[in-house]
Formats: sequence, C-alpha cells, structure tokens
Amino acid sequence: MELSFLAYLRGRCRSLPSIHLGIGDDAAAIIPTEKLQLSCTDQIIDGVDFLSAEHSLRDAGYKSVAINISDIAAMGGVPKAALVTLTLPLEDSTKIAGEVYEGILEACTKYGITIAGGDISTYEGPLAINVCLLGEVAENKIWRRSGANENDAIMLTGAVGGSILGRHLRPEPKVALAQKLQTLVDVTAAIDISDGLSLDLDRLCAASGVGAELDTDQIPVHPDAARLAESSGRSAFQHAWSDGEDFELLLTMNQHDADHLTQQRPELGLTQIGKTVGRTGLWRKYDRKVERLPPQGYMHQGKHEQTSD
Ligand SMILES: [Mg+2]
Repeated sequence: MELSFLAYLRGRCRSLPSIHLGIGDDAAAIIPTEKLQLSCTDQIIDGVDFLSAEHSLRDAGYKSVAINISDIAAMGGVPKAALVTLTLPLEDSTKIAGEVYEGILEACTKYGITIAGGDISTYEGPLAINVCLLGEVAENKIWRRSGANENDAIMLTGAVGGSILGRHLRPEPKVALAQKLQTLVDVTAAIDISDGLSLDLDRLCAASGVGAELDTDQIPVHPDAARLAESSGRSAFQHAWSDGEDFELLLTMNQHDADHLTQQRPELGLTQIGKTVGRTGLWRKYDRKVERLPPQGYMHQGKHEQTSD
C-alpha cells in the first residue's frame, strides 16, 4: 500500500519554500531560518481520544493536526511542517488511511502546513494517528507557561465548556489571533486549554510561581456547556471550569495591555477573567472574600478527575 499511497500524498501536498525535501526520501530536509524551531507531538487513539464507531475518520484526522497546531499557537508560533504516522488496523487499512488523510490534509491546507513525511504501518489493534508538528517563532517573541508576573491580567480567547458536543472534533486553534496579539501586546505567559480551563490555568500558574484570583462571573461559558448541563447533572459553569478540549488560549499580560485589548480591540474577543496573585492556587473573589477553587480537568487516565487539591 505504501508506494501508491505516497504517490497520492505527494500529489495532494502543498510544499513550502522552506521544505527542501519532503515526502519520498529517507528523511525530510528543512531549510533552517533565523527563528526558533518549535516542535510538538500528540497522538490520538481510537477508543481513547475518539470513537470511530461514532466519529468520522476525517474528523479524527483533522483533530490530530489541530490539537498540535494549538500547542504551536500557545507558544506564540506559526506551524510549518508535519510528520504524520498512521498505525492502522489490518482490516480496511487503505480505506481508513484515505479517510483519515482527508481530514489531515484539510487541516494542513487551512493552516498552511506542509506534510514533510511520516510513516504508515498496520497491526492488530485500533487506529492511532500521531502527528509531529514543526513551527517557528522569533526568539524574543516566544510565549512560555512560566513568564507570568504577579498582578498580570488573565485573559481568555473565547468561551469554554461542553466541547464534547462536537467542537472537540473540529478545534479552531488560535494561530491567527496569537499572531495578531504578538503585534499588539506583550504576552507574559500562555497555555492552550486542552485538559480544562482550571487545570491548564493551574499549570500556567504553577510554572510561573503565582496563583490566580478569578472573577468567575466573567468566565465566558459556551452555549454547549449550558446545553450539556441540561442532562449531565453538572452546572454549565462546572463544564466551563473543567471540560477541556476547548483549544482556546489562556494568556497573561500587564493590566495596561489587557485594558487596551478589551477596550480598544473588542473584535478580538478576549475576556479578562482575573489576575495573577502572589499566593499560589486558584481563588474566587466574592463579597470581598476569597474562596479556594480546586482545579479540575482531564487527567489522561480516561476520565475526569480532580487534582490533589
Ligand atoms: Mg498544550
């Protein structure tokens, strides 16, 4: 299968000038630039991260690329090239590969990414799609989790919660918005929301050595969270707080920059949900008191769990 499939792929893939050699040789060759090269990888597995019985393989392919793009966006970078490894069930492997690649190519085309190489194999097991994504960012423009200062504003790029109703299969990583923000403000720290607003915010805070004081009424709750709450036994806020796979960005910046975005650039859709504070942990402010909120989210053990505190 591999030869004809490679020919098909080569015909379908656009190539950036920075890709010296793409699909078809023993390794890809990429022309280095002045910028830092970012690399990340994420694998999704049938039965764990998606369900082929319920979800289309095209969606699974799209998702496998989009979740990696979100990680590059969270670094303030732009995605460039992908290496894709498909591990396919023995039965119907060519058909499955074709359908998965439709989604992979869709995401790569949409976000200007070249498929520079990869691997395909078959085995007696469920479909696994692994994407290694390469991107770049200027050295003085890289966003880390660890850069937040005390009294920074905490900003969120969109509404969260309830992504399981369908948005989780078609994430829209915030690359373009991140690049716009690079020209407008100094982002001090960033993370994308893959595992839950509170869990990922807790990770950013831990890396930066700060805590967060949140105005929880300001957290934009997605209509899907409200819809899910009608039958889940949990509140819309709980879904927004912990669901994950929103692929919005959490960003910190000084209050002046945050005010500029919310007052002068409302079309960018950023919301301030709180500020960083010296005491660690996540806190909710109400009636001049503060209450500690436990971070919750997806802990990669196949179910929702609460972290230690
Ligand atoms: Mg991430």
